[in-house]
Amino acid sequence: MTTTRSTATEPKMSAAEVRSLLSTFRPTSGTPSDATVEAWRHTLARCTFGECQAALLALGPSRARTATPEQIIAGIRTARAARTTTTVPRPRVSDADRAAFAASGARGIERVYAAMSWTRNHDRALAQRVACPFCRALPGRLCRPLSRDRSGRAERRDSVSLVHPSRLERACAAEDGGERR
Ligand SMILES: [Zn+2]
Repeated sequence: MTTTRSTATEPKMSAAEVRSLLSTFRPTSGTPSDATVEAWRHTLARCTFGECQAALLALGPSRARTATPEQIIAGIRTARAARTTTTVPRPRVSDADRAAFAASGARGIERVYAAMSWTRNHDRALAQRVACPFCRALPGRLCRPLSRDRSGRAERRDSVSLVHPSRLERACAAEDGGERR
């Protein structure tokens, strides 16, 4: 997570701030050397004085006395994560969520069909809205067990829905045409 270039190169805290942190939270360690201060400053380059102070306070006095910069960074990360989860508003429903809801709805419909033993009768019901162009069965009537018509055209009924495929196609086309207006 890089925010700006400057934060990556220039530490957010001054040497005086690091010194202040060390003397406040590690009073027994004596005056920190310049090398120590610089090392802490660069390890904690992305952290502000306030964040470090809060992280050290959260650790409690005894653990703060021996805390490493890495532990402070971990504490700041936890605090930042907690902040984003509480302040960021709930995201709106994404397209992926919508698709998942739709899929779950479709699965529910499938279960209802299965429970009512309608599984493939949906195709039959749809096809029977129109007359069969192949066997000439009237709307609402089952297809005749015909596999070749007078012109010599061959077509087999679907083994489950018992309708001629061209009838189902015609019904689907009629439905699409009727609903797209
Ligand atoms: Zn038919």
